[in-house]
Amino acid sequence: MTSPLAGSLPSQILGIKLDIPMPKIQGSCPSCGFRWEDFERTHRIGCPQCYEAHTQELLPTLSRIQPGISHSGRRPQPSETDLKNRLEKAKAELAEAVKNEEFETAAALRDQIAELGSKVSIK
Ligand SMILES: [Zn+2]
Repeated sequence: MTSPLAGSLPSQILGIKLDIPMPKIQGSCPSCGFRWEDFERTHRIGCPQCYEAHTQELLPTLSRIQPGISHSGRRPQPSETDLKNRLEKAKAELAEAVKNEEFETAAALRDQIAELGSKVSIK
């Protein structure tokens, strides 16, 4: 018996086109020690922190967005702050969707995140 997900990279499940090679991860989740290679085997993450620890692997298309986006520095444009807040919320929801293996939801959120990310100017 073969699972339809067998042999699929997570990025393929999420419908993400890989423009860059999958980076090799040295570290593991600081919360539960989960490693990215475990996700490639199990298609599950260990805990919500895993998403934070492996954001780059989950969302290669968002690699241009710098980490630390949740850092709430004072910005003159409230609209951009609002966009970032929405982006943060969508990322949290994506983490939950991936955790629950709701890949259709995750794909929709991924699109939303990509759209929000394109509107948020990172300097
Ligand atoms: Zn974890």
